[in-house]
Amino acid sequence: MDTKNMRIDTKVVHAGQHPDPATGAVSIPIYQSSTFCFKDAAEGAARFAGTDDGYIYTRLGNPTTAHLEECISTLEGGCGGLGAATGMAAVNTVYYTMLSQGDHVVCTEAMYGPSRTVLETEYSRFGISATFVDSSDMENVKNAMRPETKLVYIETPANPTLKMTDVQACADLAHEHGALLAVDNTFSSPVLQRPFEMGADIIVHSMTKFINGHTDVVAGMVVAKDPEVFARLRKVHRNLGGTMDPHQAWLVLRGVRTLALRMEKAQANAMELARYLEDHPKVEWIRYPGLESHPQYALGQKQMDGPGAVISFGVKGGLEAGSTLIGNVEIPTLAVSLGGIESLIEHPASMTHAGISQAEREAADISDDLVRIAVGCEDWRDLRDDLAKALDTI
Ligand SMILES: *Cc1c(COP(=O)(O)O)cnc(C)c1O
Repeated sequence: MDTKNMRIDTKVVHAGQHPDPATGAVSIPIYQSSTFCFKDAAEGAARFAGTDDGYIYTRLGNPTTAHLEECISTLEGGCGGLGAATGMAAVNTVYYTMLSQGDHVVCTEAMYGPSRTVLETEYSRFGISATFVDSSDMENVKNAMRPETKLVYIETPANPTLKMTDVQACADLAHEHGALLAVDNTFSSPVLQRPFEMGADIIVHSMTKFINGHTDVVAGMVVAKDPEVFARLRKVHRNLGGTMDPHQAWLVLRGVRTLALRMEKAQANAMELARYLEDHPKVEWIRYPGLESHPQYALGQKQMDGPGAVISFGVKGGLEAGSTLIGNVEIPTLAVSLGGIESLIEHPASMTHAGISQAEREAADISDDLVRIAVGCEDWRDLRDDLAKALDTI
């Protein structure tokens, strides 16, 4: 069945999920094999020559992983996907493929910590430079472009500031400069935001988060819109080796089928909690794309199908009050990561974003009092009561 023209809720259930051709199994089997036999020497030669598209060796491709690659590529509207061992393996495949010595990349400054650090500390060793800007203002992105800029790499909404970047405007700007636009779409998932429809060339996902959704797998995916870009990425990805294990792929294939359901519930919960927190006397400020008080509320309405399930806020009394809060909640687990069925709460300045300096954090608006809650699928009233009790202890 071709789900290409179906709606997203149908796609998350069916895209790539074809019954197994060998056995008819409805749940795709885990092809736990490192290698695949050829019926004769000619077939082996044809597979290596690329004239026969059968499987060779799991780092180069695996039937279980292939179902997931088709699934995510279909959800995003791409031409192909590359399963990755982790989200960071996916990010590195994009950097490694697109950037050579002397090249330059422009990035969202409040991007996922390691996605930034690896450019600053590793790619810089090979003469690749990066500029990090507040990409919620297009002027900053324009001013950062150089003749040697090959890639614009954005995260929207960004983590944990929840600032948004205009995907279409970045795509137009990148293309004017002969560069490509890559978008980390982890926070929204294809259910809420489809960057290819807005001109992006490459999408990366940490499927560890919403796509898998059960806090039991780390995994990543690269999707390309154009076959030529896809072929370049695939060649590098296979040789770098950060490819996906079939058991991991199977778990994500199971998780993704409820992505739309989970996203709808978590997002509805987040909207209720955001409204509650916005009016709470102990809350100093709140940032959530679904609140009209978000400075870029209109952009969110334009480019996303929903505000997502991550809220950032500061409590009166700063870091200390924030610590008291996260130490006293019972339902949200004190843990990094997001996008799981359960709510998680964390403090970026001392946890996920501790790897970047305080000056850089301040420049990126990651204040010391910022608390991030990744809202799950519990009953929002229990989450509200729990937060209320914890706020009272401050
Ligand atoms: C978690 C995350 C990553 C990295 O993914 P891993 O699976 O942890 O390697 C990249 N980008 C964003 C936005 C993330 O949240």
